[in-house]
Amino acid sequence: MKWRTLAVGLLVGALSLTGCGKEGAPGGGGGPVVDQQVASNVQVPGSPTFDKIKQRGRLIMGVKDDQPGLGFKDATTNQFSGFDVEIGRLVAAKLGYGPDKIDYKTVPSAAREDAISRGEVDFYVGTYTINDNRKQRVSFAGPYFEAGQSLLVRKDDNSITSKDTLKGKKVCSVTGSTPIQRVQQQQLTEPNNIVQFQTYSQCVDQLLNKQVDVMTTDDAILKGFAAQSPDKLKLVGNSFSSEPYGVGLNHDDKALRDKVNDILQASFDDGTWQKIYDGTLGKSGTTSSVPKLQRY
Ligand code: GLU
Repeated sequence: MKWRTLAVGLLVGALSLTGCGKEGAPGGGGGPVVDQQVASNVQVPGSPTFDKIKQRGRLIMGVKDDQPGLGFKDATTNQFSGFDVEIGRLVAAKLGYGPDKIDYKTVPSAAREDAISRGEVDFYVGTYTINDNRKQRVSFAGPYFEAGQSLLVRKDDNSITSKDTLKGKKVCSVTGSTPIQRVQQQQLTEPNNIVQFQTYSQCVDQLLNKQVDVMTTDDAILKGFAAQSPDKLKLVGNSFSSEPYGVGLNHDDKALRDKVNDILQASFDDGTWQKIYDGTLGKSGTTSSVPKLQRY
């Protein structure tokens, strides 16, 4: 286990103290957790994407908006928050674009390669696992985080304990995600027991309404949802895959990929990454060490 869950009790206490409801915690509210210095006179020679950003004068960042702690849009304030969003804001700042120059575009898992390759977003940060299949259509900087597939069930369910106990159970996940592909390929449940949606919050609703028995995706995502309903949901079993998160970029824009890799490496080295982690995902009492950049 890469994660230590220490502070569920603390978190529950904190949530009730601050009066945060379903919408608020832990992904909700607030602007950036780290005040980034916005770089000036940035050059990225040979990057068509950067040229486009410069012409536009604004940057379009692809994100998720329903994953608390990672990429989450507060329904009241319309503010985005979470670890992925902060990593994106860091990259934007180092490219010369402060929070007021960022436009957020929500892109679900199944539409990421299309959105990036069509240039609908300049880059994408949203629990996006780096893999060879996707690398045929997009490129990645990173990884900037390591997650692993896990399971989320209702608190009173003791029949599901690991990926080997899913047969006969209704399993929910998201179209185009690596976790659903693993459920299908490893035949963890019967094909007609696999329920898929565009977003993970839809799976959470189904789980709470007892229309499915379990949802599966990265532990980082599941922990965010569990923290929203600590008396109703729990994670079970060990994580059973490796999901290295990358910043999704245009397949041929090597110049921008190199630049983003440099930005990430600098944030690992100067403590910025750690501050971002502590201010977002780390709030739920889990720890993670600084990842090792691969320069794919
Ligand atoms: N990291 C996995 C993936 O990229 C699951 C999370 C997601 O769907 O965004 O497919």
